[in-house]
Amino acid sequence: MPAIKALPPGSTIGILGGGQLGRMLALAAARLGFRCHVFSPDPESPAFDVAARTTIAEFGDTSALLAFGGDVDVATYEFENVDVAAVERLEALLPVRPGARALAVSQDRFSEKSFLRDLDVATAAFAEVGDRPSLDRAIATLALPAVLKTRRLGYDGKGQAVIRWADEAAAALERMHDAPSILEHFIAFQREISIIAVRGADGALAFYDPAENVHRNGILHTSTAPARIQGETAADARAIAKTILSALDYIGVIGIEFFVVSEGDKERLFVNEIAPRVHNSGHWTEDACSVSQFENHIRAIAGWPLGTTRRHSDVVMTNLIGGEADDWAKLAKDPDARLHLYGKRETRPGRKMGHVNRVNRFDGGPAARVPRAVALEHIQLAMPEGREAEARAFYAGLLGIPEVEKPANLKARGGCWFQSGELRVHLGVENGFRPARKAHPAFLVGDLAALVHALNAGGHPVRIEEPLAGFTRVYVDDPFGNRIELMQPTAPRK
Ligand code: AMP
Repeated sequence: MPAIKALPPGSTIGILGGGQLGRMLALAAARLGFRCHVFSPDPESPAFDVAARTTIAEFGDTSALLAFGGDVDVATYEFENVDVAAVERLEALLPVRPGARALAVSQDRFSEKSFLRDLDVATAAFAEVGDRPSLDRAIATLALPAVLKTRRLGYDGKGQAVIRWADEAAAALERMHDAPSILEHFIAFQREISIIAVRGADGALAFYDPAENVHRNGILHTSTAPARIQGETAADARAIAKTILSALDYIGVIGIEFFVVSEGDKERLFVNEIAPRVHNSGHWTEDACSVSQFENHIRAIAGWPLGTTRRHSDVVMTNLIGGEADDWAKLAKDPDARLHLYGKRETRPGRKMGHVNRVNRFDGGPAARVPRAVALEHIQLAMPEGREAEARAFYAGLLGIPEVEKPANLKARGGCWFQSGELRVHLGVENGFRPARKAHPAFLVGDLAALVHALNAGGHPVRIEEPLAGFTRVYVDDPFGNRIELMQPTAPRK
């Protein structure tokens, strides 16, 4: 396939798959003057609402696929379970970016891990499993604990079982329903990160900053950029992404998920998964970068120059799962929240309904509207009985996010809540709230120097601690026995 020339605005981009990723791709394409034709078997596809043309057909429907191919100038896909044969059929007609190879490699966990091993990219040790004898052999070689996963069609933790002891093997195998599987050694990671990278039609490469990901019930809950990793670890992530993109002769955006393991004072990366498409852990780029992962994917596949991947803000992306999106009216009132809803007709438990980005601009932005500090997760801190007012005042000053009424669904007695959307800090007085000396709950802050100045002026001890590449980080002992961590990126990366 000859390299595509830059497609002029007005051209039509074909998207296989009609979920929220297709929807956000189509929105980004429209901003650049393109039209999108979305192909999906689901008549209620979220991407249909924002597409110029739609085809409702199964991916195996050759005549529908050929008609679609005849209508578009370039095609892409937005989820990796599209039939490889369908993509190959399209590739005979027109450029498909990225191509069938990336799809074939990534939709089977065994080929994915084998591909990475051939590139000398570290992954969890793994072995193919088809039946009980091969599982027993794999357990003997890899050692437990390990994770059994179906080779295909698993996502968001579905089709997985952890095996801690040999007598759990039979039940784990049963959960795979005879599907060909893979056993992976269980990695005791410190954190999970991902990198969103993009390769242009001319081979140009660009990388977004790695984000730190927290999962709940196997589903991505938050992605925070920057990730709390060393500078060398971020460089390793970029190098691995480059190796993978070049090996696949890839065009477009890719998402690569890693486990970060600390070894002494060094960090090591293990690739967990590659997703040959825009990725949920890159949704923060919509509001914290001037060119999002969606626009960069469109630019790449249309043969345009890549846009900047520079991050202008610290950011926390929180997925809205199931009924969480019912809070849209409250989120819409939150000046710190950039709300994205996918327009899905039906709310189901575990279904991704939307997401919220909370950004903190490096330049201070409209200071009054940006939280001074953003809690990385829901944080619970101890507050001794009788000192509630003092604790409230301390955290109100530190966080700069509003105090809210006790959420109705919480049984907890006492305490107070600071909340900016999902980012909650709960100061509790009841049993079970231990001072946070060991956990060091972390807050990302916009202006560390100003905060430290204010804390010093208030007589609160601040200890400058453990340099971390890319960050200034201090520990603060609050007056109630909690030690918390405040971190600010040293400079926006070029
Ligand atoms: P996956 O569907 O492969 O992305 O796995 C979902 C989640 O399960 C990951 O984000 C990890 O939190 C966890 N997980 C998967 N594989 C492993 C492994 N080999 N070791 C430890 N945790 C894992």
